[in-house]
Formats: sequence, structure tokens, C-alpha cells
Amino acid sequence: MLIDTHAHLFDDRFRDDLPAVLARAAEAGVERVVCLGIDRESSVESVWIANEFPLVVAAVGIQPNSAAEARPGDWEEVVRLAETEPRVVAVGETGLDRYWDKTPFAVQEEYFTRHIDLARRLGKPFVIHCREAEADVVRVLRAEFDRFGPVRAVMHSFSGDLATALACLEMGLFVSFAGMVTYPKAQNLREVAKEIPLDRLLVETDCPYLAPQPVRGRRNEPGFVTHTAELLAQAKGVSVAEIAEHTTRNAKRLFAL
Ligand SMILES: [Zn+2]
Repeated sequence: MLIDTHAHLFDDRFRDDLPAVLARAAEAGVERVVCLGIDRESSVESVWIANEFPLVVAAVGIQPNSAAEARPGDWEEVVRLAETEPRVVAVGETGLDRYWDKTPFAVQEEYFTRHIDLARRLGKPFVIHCREAEADVVRVLRAEFDRFGPVRAVMHSFSGDLATALACLEMGLFVSFAGMVTYPKAQNLREVAKEIPLDRLLVETDCPYLAPQPVRGRRNEPGFVTHTAELLAQAKGVSVAEIAEHTTRNAKRLFAL
């Protein structure tokens, strides 16, 4: 059994067939899907989906690229959901992004810190989106680690280098891989994956984006997480069953499932 630790099931591309998508996921051996909001609306929808489908749990947050468009009251709604909705297992997604550069960086940092503070206050983990901002993310996490000790969080859809991964591991984080790690050109990323200890490894789809080989180019969906698990098994030289066993145990530990 596998856990897809990062999905965006509120996306328009799932509007017509979400029940069938989740049935296929269950058939493929996915026992849980974490659906993460990226802004107020999608956080509300993620909670709704989690309440509707037993396979799904939710995370709520305002993603760095959405932070510039946040309206008054949006953050308060995210806080309310995190505080009161029993199926919200994490805060996020949050993080820093220098690639899209849609939100001034100082605003991104302010939101990132808010999410971290909220997660700590509620005793929940948080989920980090990091794109071309590895040094900044490590700096913020280091400040958190120095004050409060091991950081209960995951670097989602990891795309950084080994030094970044090692810094995150040292601070207690989990490292999660999405479809990108299966792409022929991603040899560097496979080298990093190889070095992540089995007890810190997670797997995800980040659907509907970036479907793994061999379904690349299609709409991604939770059932496709099996392809990424197979690749991780190859990269680490262990069986798929071992990858499934460890990543599922890790997800349950991180998200208290
Ligand atoms: Zn995401």
C-alpha cells in the first residue's frame, strides 16, 4: 500500500471524474491521499473533498505564488480550517519560490513564517514548496530548528541538490519525490534520492501536474504514484514492497494518520 502525500484534487481537471480517479487509486494500492490547498478557495475545497471521500485527508495553506493575491480574511479562514476541521492533517502548502516570482519575496517569507508558526502552535506538520529558493528555505528552517529543535515537515516534490537534502535531513525533515524523479534527464535527482534514508523518504504525485514515466504528458492522478515508487525502488536498489512499507509508515508518522 502507498500514500500519495501531495495531490491537488480540487483542480478543474478532476471535476468530472474524481470518484473514478479515487477508485483507480485504491485499486492501484493507494491507501491515502493528502489533498493540499494553495489558497483560501482550494483549502476550503480540499477540506470538503476530505470530508466526502474516506481515502482523502486535507492540508490547508496559501502557497507562495498565491500569497500576492490573498485577500483580507483569507489567512484567517485557513487558520480556522486548520484549527477546527478534524480531517486537516497538515499546514500547507507553503514555502518559497524564486522561479515564478509572482509574489514579492519578502511577502513569501512572511507567509512561510506564518505557516510554520501555525503548524507549531497546532502541533501539526507543514508541507514545503521550494523552487529555486533552496538556500532561503534552509535559512528559514535553520532559524526554526535552532529555536525549537527538530522540524516536523516535508520538502515536497524535491528538486534540490544533495547538500540541501542533507541539511533538511539533519533538521529532521522528510524528503518527498514526485514524477520528476522518473524523467530520463533527472539523473541528478535520482542520485539524491539514492542518498535519502528509507526512514525519511516519501512519495507523491503532485497531481494533476508532472505525471511520471511512463504516463508522462497525461493528467497525473494519485494511482500513478506507483510508477514513482517503482523508480525509487530501482534507484535505491530495494524492492517496491520495501519502498511502499517505509514511505507509508513515514507518511503515517509525519501526518499522524
Ligand atoms: Zn503542490
